[in-house]
Amino acid sequence: MNIIELIEKKKRGKEFSFDEWKFIVDGYMNDVIPDYQMSALFMAIYFKGMTLEETVNLTDLTVKSGDHLDFSDISNNFVDKHSTGGVGDKITLILLPILAAAGIECAKLSGRGLGKTGGTIDKLESIPGFDVNLSSEKFEELIRKNKVAISGQTKNLTPLDGKMYALRDITATIDIIPLIAVSIVSKKIAAGANHIILDVKCGEGAFMVDLASAKKLASTMRDVGKHLGRNISCVITNMNQPLGRAVGNAIEVIESIEFLKGNYTNDLCDLVFEQAALALLKTKKRKTREDAISFVKELIASGEALHQFGKIIEAQNGNSKVLNDYTLFPQAQNKIEIKSSQNGFVSNISAIKVSKACKLLGAGRIVKNAPIDLAAGVFLNKKYGEFVNKNDTIATLYFNKEENIEEAKQLVQTAFDFSLDKPNEQTMIYEIIE
Ligand code: URA
Repeated sequence: MNIIELIEKKKRGKEFSFDEWKFIVDGYMNDVIPDYQMSALFMAIYFKGMTLEETVNLTDLTVKSGDHLDFSDISNNFVDKHSTGGVGDKITLILLPILAAAGIECAKLSGRGLGKTGGTIDKLESIPGFDVNLSSEKFEELIRKNKVAISGQTKNLTPLDGKMYALRDITATIDIIPLIAVSIVSKKIAAGANHIILDVKCGEGAFMVDLASAKKLASTMRDVGKHLGRNISCVITNMNQPLGRAVGNAIEVIESIEFLKGNYTNDLCDLVFEQAALALLKTKKRKTREDAISFVKELIASGEALHQFGKIIEAQNGNSKVLNDYTLFPQAQNKIEIKSSQNGFVSNISAIKVSKACKLLGAGRIVKNAPIDLAAGVFLNKKYGEFVNKNDTIATLYFNKEENIEEAKQLVQTAFDFSLDKPNEQTMIYEIIE
């Protein structure tokens, strides 16, 4: 067997056996197969695809490339939730405390932002002291003690995914459905999840831009999970406009805290309640979706979900006083209000333009591991469906560095579309694939 023959084989659209995948994985992990040959293979996969059996085999090999957490001695009801990534996507920050308040065990590994999307780990880093770089041992210790913890990817969990993802990111090969499925499902299995809820984002602010691709990704992940003994539910959700009002890091955490205090926007609410209800049904904490959603509302109204957020923050050395004192978050030195150029209802806010503006303000990365400004971001004073008068503030930019401000202003100004008639309600959940 040699790698050139295998690249040639994939270029002709043929299927690899388990042994061939093992040869590739071992060679790549041991640096015998270099990045340039792996990149050629990824590009061949982009054009020719992978069968379900190949996707299952590569997922299994990715799980086995590192440690595998096993919490079966505590519970067989661990839930993990993952999003394929979106603009203003703060669902994990809200959902985790709700699940903890409901008594659901949750071992959550999250990522940093890249491409169009922000990352949960960057957002959490805006909480002073919050430790997001837990070792596998510390992560396991916290899970055993509190039944809930959240961390960035540890080095020893799915190292093959870490290596492949970094290479895909710089070779324009992220948007390959079977490789996204391998990447996401392997991480969830390695982190010991029993029930997996995947939020598959669909729209201009997501990797999957059209519904057909989002459905294909969702059914691939569900099928891979089934073959590897895991129950996976995918919620396909609308990612054409930013979620909620805040896009950035500290400002998204503040919006999440406000949500847990009962102040929520409709788009976020739909997604949080649906995914929380799925978790409650899967873990058999509630019998019907309606009952589950009322329970979630009670957990918020009673303050229990907010209290659990404080406990999670403290367990990971963060300052939980941020829950009631937002001045403890990193603060932006400057802010600029963007005014509406006309009267009308907001009929669209382009996720991609807002995300680009956020990057220009310093809230996101252009290259991996670059530092980001945790205080920077865009706040949407007006959302889809709301009426605005000419010169009303439609958005506020928060920033510390001024160099790209004109371009950022222009992007946010042109991100908004208006109509004279009130637009229809947005559909936030397209489909649930189980
Ligand atoms: N998110 C992941 O974790 N992996 C991918 O390949 C794409 C999105």
